[in-house]
Amino acid sequence: MKAVIVAGGEGRRIRSVARAMPKPLLDVGGRSIVEHQILLLKRYEINEIHLTVRGRDLAVFRDNLGGGESRGVRLRYHAEREPLGTAGGIAPILARLGKHFLVLYGDVMVNMDLGALVRFHRSKRAATTLVVHPSDHPLDSDLVELDDEGRIKVFRPKPRPASAWCRNVGNAGIYVVSQKLAEFISSGPSDFLRDVFPRALAAGKAPYGYRTREYLRDIGTPQRLASVRADWATRRIERCHLDFALPAIFFDRDGTLCDIVPLLRQSRDVRLLPGAAEAIRRTNEAGYLAVVATNQPVIARGLCSLEELERIHAQLESLLCEQGARLDAVYYCPHHPDAGYPGEVPELKTACDCRKPEGGLVRRAARDLNIDLSRSAFVGDSTMDVECGKRLGLRTILIETGEAGRDGKYAARPDARCPDVADAVRSILQHVA
Ligand SMILES: [Zn+2]
Repeated sequence: MKAVIVAGGEGRRIRSVARAMPKPLLDVGGRSIVEHQILLLKRYEINEIHLTVRGRDLAVFRDNLGGGESRGVRLRYHAEREPLGTAGGIAPILARLGKHFLVLYGDVMVNMDLGALVRFHRSKRAATTLVVHPSDHPLDSDLVELDDEGRIKVFRPKPRPASAWCRNVGNAGIYVVSQKLAEFISSGPSDFLRDVFPRALAAGKAPYGYRTREYLRDIGTPQRLASVRADWATRRIERCHLDFALPAIFFDRDGTLCDIVPLLRQSRDVRLLPGAAEAIRRTNEAGYLAVVATNQPVIARGLCSLEELERIHAQLESLLCEQGARLDAVYYCPHHPDAGYPGEVPELKTACDCRKPEGGLVRRAARDLNIDLSRSAFVGDSTMDVECGKRLGLRTILIETGEAGRDGKYAARPDARCPDVADAVRSILQHVA
């Protein structure tokens, strides 16, 4: 397999620190961003790498990277006389790239399992697969909506109207592209996200989204560059690779992160509880995954559609993101065991292994995200959450908001009780420190 690194971007917002240096050549831990990319590609036996660069940057790229011999790869440069955009620069070399190839934006610090990505792409027989992830700056990111199979339903490029609701599923700037996509890549300036992918979608060749919790951060602003450098120094970038299990804090939703609204079904009814954003932000900063696990029998009872539930979760994610907090994933159980309500969805009226206190949601998250459950914790407001956490061997914290344990359904005792969810996270992080 071959790869293309798109390194012809402008980098207006980072000029204050980059000066004349192209973004991909900025240093992180003694190597340029693009060198980190080359080493990652090499690790997955991708040895022929094409770089599309602006004509005036060609010399500085050559000076810095040479022909790639010292790193055991072959580098090929393609200089653009005028800016051609992310896709336009690839059009002239498409025929040289083989049946499937990788595309990386040169301003993304990335450490991920490229083998798993390519296997996903092949298994879906996709024309193209985008790497997607929860962005730490969703308002300034291009977002997508996925269906249950991982196909992209809608592209929501930035800037979006304030009224547009969407989940925090951001385009990370890494793609696997098959020649099936070639018919949508025209010569002349064009952009993958704005031109090529929407054309493919409209023609019935929906791109796929490959979700990952691995390390993908653009260095588009001085602040983001500084945080990538800090993550390198603390080895967070290395540890985020799927090879390494990460600890997680699981959060119940209603009564823990948001106010209990009986049978919550409308996104405008979502209200964050005090401490919710702080709790998630601290979880993010500590390098723990922040995962919601919630029972949503309203789906089985026909009181809320899956689309409405997505809207509720989009609203929850937006309220959190306004305060600098990011959820890594939301898992819900749509089932309900007792049949006999008017308007219910019969196929969801079933005993399942995911309705808490069963552990199905947590186990699924652990599998998807490679979570180390022995270092993880569960925070909730009911004895059912405590029982669920206990069954999985997690540290459990019962909090005094929401039901405050008054449901009394299970006798399981929590490891600690805390006034609210922010105190719970503080207590979890202190316990491991
Ligand atoms: Zn279930």
